[in-house]
Amino acid sequence: MRAAGSTTEMTQAFQKVSAIRGMNDVLPGAGAQWEQFEDIVRQWLHGYGYRNVRTPILEHTRLFTRGIGEVTDIVEKEMYTFTDALNGESLTMRPEMTAGVVRAAIEHNMLYDRPQRVYSIGPVFRHERPQRGRYRQFHQIDVEALGFSGPDIDAELIIMLARLWKTLGLSDVRLELNSLGQPAERAAHRAALIEYLEQHADILDEDGKRRLYTNPLRVLDTKNPALQDMANGAPRLFDFLGEASRAHFDGVCQRLDDAGISYSLNPRLVRGLDYYNLTVFEWVTDRLGAQGTVCGGGRYDGLIELLGGKTAPAVGFAIGMERLLDLWEQCATQAAPAECEVYIVHQGEAAQRLAAQVGERLRDVGLSVIVHAGAGSFKSQFKRADASGARVAVILGDDEVANQVASVKLLRAEPGAEGAQQTVALSELADVLKSKD
Ligand code: ATP
Ligand code: MG
Repeated sequence: MRAAGSTTEMTQAFQKVSAIRGMNDVLPGAGAQWEQFEDIVRQWLHGYGYRNVRTPILEHTRLFTRGIGEVTDIVEKEMYTFTDALNGESLTMRPEMTAGVVRAAIEHNMLYDRPQRVYSIGPVFRHERPQRGRYRQFHQIDVEALGFSGPDIDAELIIMLARLWKTLGLSDVRLELNSLGQPAERAAHRAALIEYLEQHADILDEDGKRRLYTNPLRVLDTKNPALQDMANGAPRLFDFLGEASRAHFDGVCQRLDDAGISYSLNPRLVRGLDYYNLTVFEWVTDRLGAQGTVCGGGRYDGLIELLGGKTAPAVGFAIGMERLLDLWEQCATQAAPAECEVYIVHQGEAAQRLAAQVGERLRDVGLSVIVHAGAGSFKSQFKRADASGARVAVILGDDEVANQVASVKLLRAEPGAEGAQQTVALSELADVLKSKD
């Protein structure tokens, strides 16, 4: 055994450690944008009665192999799976959130007396090739309507997304829609599809050959350009739908028409996960290059039972936050949010101590305040105040301390009023600053 503190360990300790490939830091500027975005998202979700749930990032691997399906990109090659050294259990960093949310709903009997509208926001992990819009740790807004069966809720979820795009001022996001029918309809289509794929077996790529019999529908989900013509000519699941499935689909379409939301039917839309039935949809943009899907979702009436719960229908979607933020940044015109509303500058020991107290009093009335830390000339402190984006600077020096007043300067005044400065008694400062809101 090597002694701790040996030379090799010490040199290693001074080497820079970088983040893991495909996993990003969110730095303060972008962090403010994330928070602003999350505030809008929460308000939007509450507007439709959705409530927050938080499930663990680590789950038993079998939750995902079962819930997502063995023959999927995620389970075959994208999961961060490892053995717990303490007890030999196979664990996986969640690659998506639906399986965990459904597990929690079953485990805590959440659906015993009524359906539930829930959402969860957080990181998910997939071992993919990193590129713009495709990371190994990324974030999802996951929304699930558990225990609802009708097309009304499918449509509501889509309408709700259209509202979010509008609130964020996004343009060029289009809706693609399909129906995956029910298991019996898929079985009939599957037989026809296998026959068709067998006729084209010579041109299938490795993934395609492997999936021909295990998951032929997924062969059509290929991103391989050489297979597009073959995929376009394949029998369409949509043509195998029975009356009830068609009625459900029509029900969704009617409600989207009522809401003035346009969509296109994409018969090849099958989604990356196995558990969907009936409605599936994606919101896609051309503004983000190759990774243009910002949100995907659909109905998954079989999943709750598959994971050991009592049969119950459900529908949901997941938004890719990095992609949506990227799009928002391209479309939005709003300025970066300020770090604070009020920045307090000061000169001298007594003024510095007073500044800390004034800062507390202003926070008491709900203002956000930065008290300049350390010393420095007024000039350098004002530079910081300006860079913070604050509306107002409060100035404290020896005179102000002696007279129990503060000088107040508007940093973002209307043209003509620049530099306007006024003296305010400390006892009235909070009221005066509040009124300048
Ligand atoms: P894709 O076809 O782009 O791989 P997917 O079907 O695997 O997407 P979902 O499992 O439906 O994606 O996840 C929901 C959303 O999460 C996607 O629509 C996308 O916006 C986002 N997303 C998926 N994978 C990544 C990733 N590796 N990095 C960043 N965002 C992602
Ligand atoms: Mg994927």
